[in-house]
Amino acid sequence: MIIDQIKPTKIFLLMDTNTKEYCYPLVEENLTDHTILTIFRGEKEKTIQTCIQIWKAMSDLPLDRHSLVINMGGGVICDMGGFCASVFKRGLAFINCPTTLLSQVDASIGGKLGIDFENYKNHIGLFREPNHVIISSVFLNTLSQKELLSGCAEMIKHALIDSHVAWEKQKVMNTPIIPSDEQISQSIQVKYRYVLQDPKENGIRKALNFGHTIGHAVESNLIETKNISITHGEAVAIGLIAETWLSNQCLGLNKDNLNSICEYLINFFPKIDLHNISKQQFFDALKQDKKNKGNKIIASLIRDIGDCVIDYPVSAELCWDSLNYYKLLSAQ
Ligand code: NAD
Repeated sequence: MIIDQIKPTKIFLLMDTNTKEYCYPLVEENLTDHTILTIFRGEKEKTIQTCIQIWKAMSDLPLDRHSLVINMGGGVICDMGGFCASVFKRGLAFINCPTTLLSQVDASIGGKLGIDFENYKNHIGLFREPNHVIISSVFLNTLSQKELLSGCAEMIKHALIDSHVAWEKQKVMNTPIIPSDEQISQSIQVKYRYVLQDPKENGIRKALNFGHTIGHAVESNLIETKNISITHGEAVAIGLIAETWLSNQCLGLNKDNLNSICEYLINFFPKIDLHNISKQQFFDALKQDKKNKGNKIIASLIRDIGDCVIDYPVSAELCWDSLNYYKLLSAQ
């Protein structure tokens, strides 16, 4: 139906090895003539070398300005496929079909496209909205528990920055289950509202970074120094706990909310051992955060559930204390 409206001359379908196996069979019958390119799964493939492979395949066909690219996969495929389509022959139409929970509730909205470069995540890219986004919970049945959890962290963040009503609804989901289409849609609406008001992240959209200052520092620290890879969601869950504690310390988020949010998160996500992170390495990672202004570490914190304060400067020492708070929590 959507494809009929675009009337493409050719359809180019980009997938990774997992989505080719698990998701393609669900749509194959409904697709008219198309050419497939399958790349190996995982973040390590989100590079300029893979883009060259994609552009070569597009050129060999060849795709013209009226062709359509469909990206069927998680955030890696949607970010990279969207980027490749956006610059090939100065921009082809593309549809994103996100197949992980994280890419459905987060990467599907906001038009951020791109690839990693050297050790920098999402270093090369641009803002461009896909022509369409197709989302269905049916794709999530084959997702691993770890990947499901990864998306849940962003859903929890959306509820916390949105409202008490959204938080109460979220708390009912007390184990990682496949959310319904309606729950996914409600979560997407939160991000959509922020993106609509501030598409290029100059102001209020930064609220979506709640949990990400500490989360990113922990994520890059574990990868760089211990060669341990945790999912984005696991890192964000740690960040949400630490930054909820910071919100209590800096903005007076009340103790009941602090306790209920952290209790929920620590029971929902597996506890990650952070005892080997050195203070200096953690500080170095905090200083690299894209949100920083000059030497100041900047976070988005919550004064109350549904009341986010952006551009809040926090000291590295207090961030370290927030990690200590996380280390002392235990699941019940
Ligand atoms: P991913 O694309 O690597 O997917 C995770 C794993 O799940 C992969 O192994 C993939 O093959 C597998 N998979 C995907 N769909 C599946 C399915 N239906 N069944 C079984 N397995 C499936 O990563 P992700 O977690 O989806 O997203 C992370 C990426 O998204 C990062 O590169 C991050 O930078 C990016 N991201 C972008 C935005 C944005 O706004 N553009 C937002 C958040 C994250």
